[in-house]
Amino acid sequence: MEKHKCIIIGTGPAGYTAAIYAARANLKPIMYTGLEPGGQLTTTTEVENFPGYPDGIDGPAMMEDLQKQAQRFGTDVRFGMVTKAEFSTIPGEYHKLTIDESTEVLARTVIIATGASAKYLGLESEKKFMGHGVSACAICDGFFYKGQEVVVVGAGDSAAEEATYLAKLCPKVTVLVRKDHFRASKIMVDRVMKTPNIEVLFNTETVEVQGDKTVSSVKVRNNQTNEERVIPAEGFFVAIGHKPNTDIFKGQLDMDNVGYLITKPGTATTNLPGVFATGDAQDRIYRQAVTAAGSGCMGALEAERYLQEFEEEVTAEA
Ligand code: NDP
Repeated sequence: MEKHKCIIIGTGPAGYTAAIYAARANLKPIMYTGLEPGGQLTTTTEVENFPGYPDGIDGPAMMEDLQKQAQRFGTDVRFGMVTKAEFSTIPGEYHKLTIDESTEVLARTVIIATGASAKYLGLESEKKFMGHGVSACAICDGFFYKGQEVVVVGAGDSAAEEATYLAKLCPKVTVLVRKDHFRASKIMVDRVMKTPNIEVLFNTETVEVQGDKTVSSVKVRNNQTNEERVIPAEGFFVAIGHKPNTDIFKGQLDMDNVGYLITKPGTATTNLPGVFATGDAQDRIYRQAVTAAGSGCMGALEAERYLQEFEEEVTAEA
C-alpha cells in the first residue's frame, strides 16, 4: 500500500493552494481531484473579486493556472474519488483512504478540500427532468437553452449571477424568489432588476416542473395569495445554495447540522490529529475563492508543522 506524507482531497482554490504550500515544503503531496476537477469555480465565468486580476479572470482558466502552479512544485494530481476515509485517532499514525472504492492509500496527514455541491428543491418532477431541462449550473448548461425561455429559482448571489448570465442567451428569464426580497448583494440585485428580459416573481415557489420528455413549463404558486400559474420554460435552473461534501467523514470528524466541518477557531485543525479541513467544506460564512485559498494555505502549514513532530519516523521512511 502506498504511504504518503500528505494527501489533499479536492481541487478547488483551497486544495490547490494547500498543494502549492505543501509541495514547496517538500511534503510531496498527492491530490485527488474528485468528480468535479477544479471545483465550483469551473462552473463560473468571470471571477472579478480574486485579488491580482484587475480585469477579472475566467473561472476554469484560473483553476488551470492553479493546477500548473501546484504541479510546478511537484504535486501529484490524480483523477480519482476518495470514497472512504478511515482516520486514525493516534497522533503520528497513518490515515487510510480508499480511492474509487478499490485502491487503498495511507497518509500521515490529510487535507480536506472537498468543497460544496449544489442543492436542489427535492421535488419529484425536478428529479424526473434532471439533465433534461433541470440544471444547477447556468454556466455549464445555459448554452443548450439559447433562444429559449428559462426559469431560475433562488435569491442569493448565485441566482442573480445565473439569471444575468442566462439573460444574455435567452429571450426571457423568470426568477422565482420565495420571500419578498433577495438575499444577494446589492450590486447583483441591481444588475438583475436592470436587465429588461428578466422578470422577478417575489413570494413565489415552485409547485411542479412540467413537460413530456423535457421541460416545457413550470407551475408556480404565490405563497401570499395561493394563486397558481404556469410559466412556459424549457430550462429550470436551481440556484439555492450548496451542501458541503463531507458525508464520507460523518461519524469521524465533528461537523455542524448542515455538514460543515468544525475546525478549531483560527486554524484548519479538526478533532483528529493530522486531519485538516479547508475551503467551503468548513466555511459556512464566507465561501469565497480567496478565503478558500487562504484556508488551504493554513491547512498545508499546519500539516507541515504536524509532520515535524514525527520528523525522525517520516525521514526514515522517505
Ligand atoms: P445562498 O445560501 O447565499 O442563497 C441561497 C438562496 O436560495 C437564498 O436566497 C434562499 O432563499 C434560496 N433558497 C434556499 N432554499 C430554497 C428553496 N427550497 N426554494 C426557494 N429558494 C430557496 O447561496 P448562493 O449559492 O447564492 O451563494 C453562496 C455564497 O457564494 C454566498 O456567500 C454568495 O455571496 C457567494 N457567491 C458569490 C458570487 C460572486 O460574488 N460572483 C456568485 C455566487 C455566489 P432565502 O433568502 O429565502 O433563504
